[in-house]
Amino acid sequence: MVEQGTSVKLRSLIGGTPTSNHGREVALLDPATGEEAFRAELVATRDVARAVASARDAQPAWAHTPAIARGVVLREAADVLEDRRDELAHRITSEMGKVLAESRAEVDEAAFYLRFMSGEGARLVGETRPSVDPRRLSIAERVPAGVVAVITPWNFPLCIPTWKIAAALVVGDSVVFKPALQTAGTGLALAEALCTAGLPAGALNVLVGTGEEAGQELAHHPDVRVLTFTGSTAVGHRLAGLVGGRGARVALELGGKNVAVVLRDADLEQAAERIAHGAFATAGQRCTATSRVIVDGDVHDELLGRLAERADDLRVGPGIDPASDLGPLVSVESRRRVASAVAAAATDGARVVAGGYAPEELPAQAGYYRPTVVTGLQSTHALVRHELFGPVTAVLRADDEDEALRLANATEYGLAASIFTRDLGRALRFSRALRAGVVFVNAATVEAETHLPFGGMGASGNGSRDTGLAALETYTEWKTTYLAPAGTVL
Ligand code: NAP
Repeated sequence: MVEQGTSVKLRSLIGGTPTSNHGREVALLDPATGEEAFRAELVATRDVARAVASARDAQPAWAHTPAIARGVVLREAADVLEDRRDELAHRITSEMGKVLAESRAEVDEAAFYLRFMSGEGARLVGETRPSVDPRRLSIAERVPAGVVAVITPWNFPLCIPTWKIAAALVVGDSVVFKPALQTAGTGLALAEALCTAGLPAGALNVLVGTGEEAGQELAHHPDVRVLTFTGSTAVGHRLAGLVGGRGARVALELGGKNVAVVLRDADLEQAAERIAHGAFATAGQRCTATSRVIVDGDVHDELLGRLAERADDLRVGPGIDPASDLGPLVSVESRRRVASAVAAAATDGARVVAGGYAPEELPAQAGYYRPTVVTGLQSTHALVRHELFGPVTAVLRADDEDEALRLANATEYGLAASIFTRDLGRALRFSRALRAGVVFVNAATVEAETHLPFGGMGASGNGSRDTGLAALETYTEWKTTYLAPAGTVL
């Protein structure tokens, strides 16, 4: 049971049993107050191997459970999440800071995806092909990959693990899951929902620990056949070397420097509103956050003014306060990092037209920072090039559409992009030319739907996709069988 309060200790779940390590404890702080909210017991290194062994032992029986029955477990877990919607939403908000409305939406989205994937239990579509010999039947089926390691960040502590775990479980894999330590309680709550729904012990194990220790140990384990990782590009690339080097599969969903392009014929009110949402929802701590805005010179000043106005109108405050539009950043360190990047940009000549400071009336030991709009930077500036993961967006001017396209693609990342225009032909041209895994027309960069493939190009991933049916590629192998009647000779 997930409860709140300092007396509750978060412990790893191995083989269906909470595991105690007596002593290696850390305090997890509430981003809204900077004070201790939970305590976590860090998993011992030897217990990582125990978790993998538990998953390996549980996997054959789980894979032999009819796929339809595996799907039913996911569907019932969705019901459990919905029954506990409010409690889970409070848990998410107290662990990572986002406003309650967003946390509730996250619970809804996780339940939606569990139901979507539960349907795969009755489908798992394969292939049949004609054979060179008409007496033969040729079929290709998806079979489980085996033990899957899942490593996830804190910004969507329920949805991202759900995407990965639901897809892995429905195809018959077993899982060892290391949530971000900061949001380990939400990770454990997801496991609890699945266990309540009937998932057998060992099919899903949860490690409460740090990436440097538990995450590394997990990635090293030779019985892990697939590692699916969402997080920063630097860590993802390190893990890819490690896991790929021993011939196992690695799926990476990484950072972004997402762009909104506003063409001269755009509906500027809609553009400003959607860009503000894309840039500042979840305090900008989304892999798809709109951190660059490229605006046609003819409408640049007007769009900039409208965006700054919207940023100034947003209320920053604790996530549990219904009046807050934006919660704090995940930690005071994150806020310091963001503030110093904005200060450096100002020193380099940027004009800060909205925000750029921590509100004085809110606790200084917490992560509060005003939604910030900067302009006047070159496209090569660090604030325009590097992911900041905070409520900051940089607005750049383009002389024409060709320059807008060139600037939009001038990034090593390739996750999400938006185009604002009334002209479908222009929209299509941009959508085809933009190097991004997810493109929106007249919508925010953060509006992806989980029954479609989600993932990025370039430094935003390695070709895999979370969500949609494309996710199945990560968790299955293909087995091809040629069936011929006995006694036939080709
Ligand atoms: P992070 O520092 O890379 O951490 C992500 C996860 O990896 C955490 O569970 C972390 O553990 C673990 N980890 C850290 N170092 C590790 C190591 N050496 N070996 C194994 N595991 C390790 O990223 P974050 O700060 O949590 O999240 C922000 C990043 O995630 C941003 O770059 C964002 O764009 C990206 N993101 C991408 C997507 C997407 O779908 N493309 C979605 C959301 C977020 P601990 O933190 O517990 O130590």
